[in-house]
Amino acid sequence: MANCLFCDIIAGKIPSKKVYEDDLVYVFEDIKPGAPTHVLIVPKKHIVDLKHATPEDAQIIGYSNLVAAKIGRERGIEDGYRTVYNVGPRAGQSVFHLHLHLLGGRDMSWPPG
Ligand code: AMP
Ligand code: ZN
Repeated sequence: MANCLFCDIIAGKIPSKKVYEDDLVYVFEDIKPGAPTHVLIVPKKHIVDLKHATPEDAQIIGYSNLVAAKIGRERGIEDGYRTVYNVGPRAGQSVFHLHLHLLGGRDMSWPPG
C-alpha cells in the first residue's frame, strides 16, 4: 500500500529494530516505547484497523496474539503484559495499518487512560 508507514517498514524502506519476522507478521520495537517491552506485531497484509478486518483476517488476528505471547515468554514478562489494538483516533490510533501493541515489564493500571 502506497504512503503507508508500516508497509514501508515491512518492505525495509524505512529502518526499524526488528524483533521477529515470518510469512505473516513483522515485529519491531516501538520508536516511542511506553514500557520496557513495547513491540508492534504487524500483519504483512495491509489491513487498516480492527474495524476494517474481515472474517478472512481471523487467522492473522489470532496468530498476532500468539506471537505476542511467544515474545512475552522470551522477554520474561509473563507476570504482566498487555496486548492492545487502538481502534480509531479517540483511542489513540495514529498509524492506519493494523498493529498489535505488546507492552510489559512494568506495573500497569486499569482502566487505561
Ligand atoms: P497507534 O497510535 O496505536 O496507531 O500506534 C502507532 C505506534 O507506532 C506508536 O506507538 C508509535 O510510537 C509507533 N511508531 C510510529 N512511527 C514508528 C516508527 N518509524 N518505528 C517504530 N514505531 C513507530
Ligand atoms: Zn500498510
